[in-house]
This record gives sequence, C-alpha cells and structure tokens, in this order.
Amino acid sequence: MTVSDNQQLKEALDMLKQTGIRITPQRHAILEYLINSMSHPTADEIYKALEGKFPNMSVATVYNNLRVFKEIGLVKELTYGDASSRFDFVTSNHYHVICEQCGKIVDFHYPALDEVEQLAAHVTGFKVDHHRMEIYGTCPDCQKNGHRQH
Ligand SMILES: [Zn+2]
Ligand SMILES: [Zn+2]
Repeated sequence: MTVSDNQQLKEALDMLKQTGIRITPQRHAILEYLINSMSHPTADEIYKALEGKFPNMSVATVYNNLRVFKEIGLVKELTYGDASSRFDFVTSNHYHVICEQCGKIVDFHYPALDEVEQLAAHVTGFKVDHHRMEIYGTCPDCQKNGHRQH
C-alpha cells in the first residue's frame, strides 16, 4: 500500500466518524478494497474478494455498506443499463473509458467540462447539477486477445 492510499483510507474513515457511522471491520475492508482495487468493482466482486476474510458476510451486507458510503458521498454508483452496478471511490473528478468487450472501466483525468454545463443551462434554462461523459472502445488486453473490433 502506498502512502497516498493510506491517506485516502484515513480520510475516508475520518469522514465516517464525522458523520457518526460506525466503522465495522467489514466497512473498513470494503473501503480499503475500493481504494486499492481501482477497478470499479461490483458488489459481487467485492463480496468474492472479501468472503475469505468475513465468512459470515453476505452480498447484501456488502451492498448495504456501499449504499451507506454512497449516501455520504464516499463512493459513486455507476449504473450501465441492465449490467449490475459498479462502485467507484470518489477521489477527484475524473472521466471513464469503458471497454465494450469485457466491461472494464478505466479512469482518466481531464478538466471538468464546465463550459458544456454552462451552455446546456443557457440554452435550455435548466439548473444543471452534473453531467456524465463516457468514452467507449476496446481495452489493450482485448485488442491483444483479438476480439471483434467495433
Ligand atoms: Zn476489454
Ligand atoms: Zn472511476
């Protein structure tokens, strides 16, 4: 674990304390996994990664804890049509590039597109809250495996 990961975990745990949420060993482990994995896991993937450590934990417990984290703004839930939700530890603003072959989601940083929000608000009269931009393609692994290209 690098120093910055430790720092992120520490800040996340501080935030739980501030909002009066009890830090259970499961919550600690789920947060740690989210911060370290960088892979936007589903509740099921987190469950599978941690079930050895917490044999009494169910997928529902993982999901409920993720919802608690989501409510206080620690994680974002990414929903993609009928696929199960993926969870992202909220660090800085970032965008996602998504592999259409294997579903992998990778972060990349780009300045927030504030002008687009301003234009949308100006043109439509909406009060704009946020936006979502995603890039789709084929990841390097899938390119190597020679999957069908789009
Ligand atoms: Zn892929
Ligand atoms: Zn992300």
